[in-house]
Order: sequence, then structure tokens, then C-alpha cells
Amino acid sequence: MVQSSVLGFPRMGKLRDLKKATEAYWGGKISRDELLAEGKRLRLEHWKIQQDAGVDVIPSNDFAFYDQVLDHHQLFGTIPERYSKYNLHALDEYFAMGRGLQKPAEGIDVPALEMVKWFDSNYHYVKPTLQDNQQYKLAAEPKPVAEFLEAKAAGITTRPVILGPVSFLTLAKADRGQTVEPISQLDQLLPLYAELLTKLKAAGAEDVQIDEPVLVFDLAEKNKAAFKPAYEKLGSLGASAPRITLATYFGDIVHNIDVLANLQSLHSIHVDLVRNPEQLDTVVAALGPNQVLSAGVVDGRNIWKTNFKAAIEKVENAIQKLGKDRVIVATSSSLLHVPHTLASEKTLDAEVRDWFSFAVEKASEVAVIAKAVTEGPAAVREQLEANAKSVQARASSARTNDPAVKARQAAVTADMHNRRSEFTQRLAEQTKTLKLPLFPTTTIGSFPQTKEIRIQRNKFTKGEITPEEYEKFIEKEIRDVVKIQEELDLDVFVHGEPERNDMVQYFGERLTGYVFTTHAWVQSYGSRCVRPPIIVGDVSRPAPMTVKESKYAASVSPKPMKGMLTGPITCLRWSFPRDDVHQSVQAQQLALAIRDEVVDLEAAGIQVIQVDEPALREGLPLRTGSERVAYLKWAVDSFKLSTAGVTDGTQIHSHFCYSEFQDFFHAIAALDADVLSIENSKSDAKLLRVFVDEKYPRHIGPGVYDIHSPRIPSEEEIKVRIEEMLQYLTPAQLNINPDCGLKTRGWEETKAALTNMVNAAKFFRAKY
Ligand code: GLN
Ligand code: ZN
Repeated sequence: MVQSSVLGFPRMGKLRDLKKATEAYWGGKISRDELLAEGKRLRLEHWKIQQDAGVDVIPSNDFAFYDQVLDHHQLFGTIPERYSKYNLHALDEYFAMGRGLQKPAEGIDVPALEMVKWFDSNYHYVKPTLQDNQQYKLAAEPKPVAEFLEAKAAGITTRPVILGPVSFLTLAKADRGQTVEPISQLDQLLPLYAELLTKLKAAGAEDVQIDEPVLVFDLAEKNKAAFKPAYEKLGSLGASAPRITLATYFGDIVHNIDVLANLQSLHSIHVDLVRNPEQLDTVVAALGPNQVLSAGVVDGRNIWKTNFKAAIEKVENAIQKLGKDRVIVATSSSLLHVPHTLASEKTLDAEVRDWFSFAVEKASEVAVIAKAVTEGPAAVREQLEANAKSVQARASSARTNDPAVKARQAAVTADMHNRRSEFTQRLAEQTKTLKLPLFPTTTIGSFPQTKEIRIQRNKFTKGEITPEEYEKFIEKEIRDVVKIQEELDLDVFVHGEPERNDMVQYFGERLTGYVFTTHAWVQSYGSRCVRPPIIVGDVSRPAPMTVKESKYAASVSPKPMKGMLTGPITCLRWSFPRDDVHQSVQAQQLALAIRDEVVDLEAAGIQVIQVDEPALREGLPLRTGSERVAYLKWAVDSFKLSTAGVTDGTQIHSHFCYSEFQDFFHAIAALDADVLSIENSKSDAKLLRVFVDEKYPRHIGPGVYDIHSPRIPSEEEIKVRIEEMLQYLTPAQLNINPDCGLKTRGWEETKAALTNMVNAAKFFRAKY
């Protein structure tokens, strides 16, 4: 029989219960025992959901109070001394590593470990951080064993999930001031894995899922070479360890397949056949005579209902080669990246609701597919028919397909991607129109989103105030920030974005082709969740989205007013995209919509327009090579298409929340933005060297102060920063701005910081 399996389940719960409990614990509102009890309740609930759905292989140890990678720090006893020295309760020590801890009264002040994006997802994990002379010791009560036993006590047999040794070390780094090369630690770490596996087996676990997702990367030779010996060693445990399923996801493993060939210690290998169905043949060919393929055919990264017919075909294809007992139907990755359940969505339009499937529904999908291939389609005829109907309805829906959008895309020409003239000529025009001084000062767009703004927006959303009242309120906010910018003597003004809830949602709500949910939260990091909008169909702009506010701001402002838009790639990346057309097609549709907005802003008299693309980098495919080249081409084209409709005198800005451009500098340069503002205050000014080396001709505003902290930078310190930047950039090139938008800051510190920033700019203006 063909089994069904889930690789991991979202842990927040139906109503973000875990977030609420965790934050209540942090805030001192519930006790540690109450939090632990809530975690236990959620784990049990999630196992039951999967059991009831008919899932054969249910994961455990996929739960984490903060992050599943961070859990391994406690599992292996690799807690840096700066945390362990306080002798905190294990749970508090764990949170201290995840989010830092400041308790001045108790003399505790320690920042969090570094957190970075998990592969190309929007989930962030805590980076394993190792010391020179690192000691390793398996926890006395290993969490994977405890959670396995917990499920067992509830009558549910699970397959514990752990992060594999090679991935753990490949994702790890040496701690600050340390030089240890993580992969060199393999021999010390492996005995702990062996001990853990033995304990799991003793507890009754017949199977274990060991995640080795780094197999989808281009691996360094040393890391790649670590696989074989590691798994041969674990394999030598024989019957005293559970059977190992080695799981990979978010890419193909064809380029690393040689490390898995002849690894008889692996019972099965899991691959992502949603993202890379074409790897099936190569992986099957590499399997040993008794090895099992876990076929990831239900998408763990997106919210679409699985196309049963297509998924069954993939599975049947594998069965033909391997037989029914050597194939498992699985989710492509953990379901951590999708919302909990569609059942919570009460306001979704019925037509599109029928197209979605969240974690609870996806658990049923794997079970249905497994049953279909085991017993034959007749066993699940009803489900297959209903599914075929949904798939068909989606494919032919007027909401999916808009002939006008398609016609417009077909008419896009190469010319439309290019500004009318080269930068030098544009600059000459812009100098005439904008009359900006040397070292022009500006901000990145948002000003403090005060409590009052949130209250009024809430009232407006609930219908407690009229659109006219809300508009009056927004206009007053705009007048206030214009006045403040006048007092601060900034050079290029912004309207402050008081009307925007979120930089993607705001645009999504004004575009055709998007839908929104009420409860579809996914964990971003720790207790933080995001609720991405969903692109369901061809995207177009029925009416201007930002012109009213920008025009009003310009009408009350004596200085150039910068229009503020979110770019096509960021709109795409921070939404759930469609899976029925290529992302490049969706990006182009978004680009055309934003292009119209840019042109309308210009026509309304806005001479400076900023198109933010902070998500451009995270869309970069995980491996170098053709996929990355292709991505950069369509991503850059989308940005250019969105901005190139203006005349030479209009200044196009773009903004990025980082300054590591080394691996894709040519793409940033190719955007051809007149001014690029980037995060830089916490980075090394040396990163600007690439602009010199590559003879970047246009203007740049590297952030001169950090906006993530309420701390006010002194004028002196900003001057030092500017001085450093001038080692790399010419005075004519350098714009002065903060790192990013100011929406999370308070007004007092914002005014003080900007005063110092403007004074520092004036100092250099007088000097040059
Ligand atoms: N214009 C946006 C703001 O100022 C940019 C935010 C971002 O880059 N993440 O808030
Ligand atoms: Zn930013």
C-alpha cells in the first residue's frame, strides 16, 4: 500500500494561539507552566487533525516555541556562554537566544542570535552559532524523544523530525570573534545524532525524518563530501536506530545525487516534486533496490488546492518504476509555510475559496492521493470529481483570465523598458526641474504610524467614520508631515504614507486579481506572523492608487514631493503567487499596473517617484546558473517596465533594505534608477566599494542611520558616516537619507535624528 505523509505542520494553531500564549508569557501575563500546557495542547490538536485526515506518517518534533533550528542548540548543548551564564530556566534561555533578553534590574542584557531567511521562504530561522573548542552534549531529555512519547501516550505513532547534521553545520556559522569552520565539527556532532537515534528507537520510533535541505544548494566540496561518511556512520547503528527518511525540499537534488547513491543506510529519500518534478527519474535511478521514494506532490509553500489528476500521475509514474510499497505520497515540504485552515475564512468569495487549500486541507489531500493510488480511483471517486471541477473552474474563471491584460502583455515592446535618454541627459533635465542642492536630503517614505493613525484607520475599516471624514484626517496628517519636513529643512519631501496599512496589502487592495483573507496567518519568525495577500488572477489597475494623496501633498508643499510605490517584485514575493502561470508573467502584469501609476503621478505634477523593491534579493534562486540568470532578467525587466514611462525630468528612486549587492550588482545597476537608497548604517561602508569598482554612474543614498532602534544618532556620528561614504562615492553622487522608512519610530526621536542628519548634510554642502 502507498502511505501518505506530512513533513511538518504549522504550529501557531487556528487562531494564532501559540503567538498569543508566547507573547502573554513574555509579558508576564501567564506562567511558564501555562505556556508549556498550551504548547502541549496545540501539538496534540495538530496530531489529531492529521490522524483524522487519514495521514499515515505524522510528524512530531516539528513543533517549536520559537524556531525549530534554534531547538537544536539546546538539543546539542551548544548554548553560547553569554546566555548560559545567567542560569536561566531552559525555556527562558531559549527565548533569550531567539530574541535577546534585557532585565536591567537583574543585570541581564544579551542580544539575540542572528536570524536569517530559511532558504527562499519568508520564514526566518536562528542561525546555529558555534564556538572554537565547541563542546557538544545531548540534552538529558531530548525534545524529539519527549514529543514522540507525548504523541505515543495519546495513541498516535509519529515520525520525529530533526535537522540533519550536514544541514545543521552548513547553515551554522562561527560566533563573533571565533574562527571555527562549522563543517569541521561533523565528527564531534555525529555521536550525538547516533545517541539520539538510539534513544528514539528505544522509545518506540520505527521511523525518523532527517531534513537535509542543503542538498538543493550548490555545496562547497567539504560540505558535500560530509554526507556519505555521516550517513554511513548513522547507518551502522542498524536495527538499534529508526529507519531514516532523508528529506530535501525547495529545489532539486540532481546536482548532488552522487552523494546519495548507494547510501543503503537510508530507508527513503524525500524530494520536492512540486518545485522540481523533472528530478523524479534521476532520483529514482539513484535509489537502491529496497529504498523508498517519498514523493512531495502537495505544495507546502502555497495555498492552492492540489490538482489531484496531475499529482496522481506523478505518483503513478514513480509506482511504475518502484512498486506500491516503495512510494510514499507527501507534502513537498513542511506545511509551516501555509496558513492553518481554510475553515476560518468566512468572508472569502465562494468562487475563489473553492480553489484554496491550507494546512488542514492539505493533510487530507495527501491521504486522498495515497488512497487513490493504493485502491484505485473508484475508492475516492467523489473527491476526485469535486477536485477536477474546482481545477476546471479555476482554469476557466473570468477572475483568472483577463483578455485585456493578456493583450496588453502581448503588446509590451523592448523599448518600453528603457528611459528615453541616458542618465547624464536625464540628470541635466532633473537638475533644471528639481533644483536640488549638493547632498540632497530625503526620507524613505513612511513617517511614524501613530496610535491615532491606527485608531482612525480602524474606525474607517469598521465603517464608524465616513470616507470623507477619513480623507480629511489623512489630509491633516499629510499637512502635518509636510510642515515638519519644512521645519527640518529636508530637500525632497514625502507624504508620509499615513493611509497605508502595509506596503503590499495597500496596493493589492487596489488591484484587480488579488484577494485577502482574515485568518490566513503564516509564521514569519518567533511569534511574528504575516498574512500575505493572494494573487488569484490576471492583475490590472482599475484606477489610480496613490495619486490623490501624493497630489494633495504636493499642493501643500513648497519642495519636490516624492511619490511612493511598491515595486512589482516586492508585490509578488510578499503575496501568495499563482501557480498556474509563471511568476515572470505575474511580475509583468504588476509592472504594467505600476507603470500606469508612475505615469499618472508624473501627469499630476509629481517629479520624483520612488519604487521600492526590498524583496528583489530574496527572490534570487538558491543556486547560481541559468535559473538565477533568468530570474534576474525578468525581475529587472519588471522594474524597468514599471518605471520607464516617464520623461527625462522625472527622477526615479528605488529603495533596498540591505547593501550586500556583490552577487548581483549588475542587476541593481541595470535597474537604471536615478537614485538608489539602500540600508547601510549597520553595514560596513566598504560594501560601497562595488559601486566604485563597477563605475556606477548614478546617485546613491546609503542610509546614514539605523531606523530599527529608537536611539538618536548624533550629528557628529552622521558626519563620520558621510565622510566614510565619501571615500567611495563622489559628492555629486551622494544623497543623504536614513536606512529605511520611519513608520515604526516615535515622532520625538524621528525629529531629533533628522535634525542631526540635515545638519550633517549642510556641513558637507558648505565644505564642497
Ligand atoms: N517606503 C517604505 C517605507 O518607508 C519602504 C519600506 C521598506 O523598504 N520595507 O515604509
Ligand atoms: Zn527599507
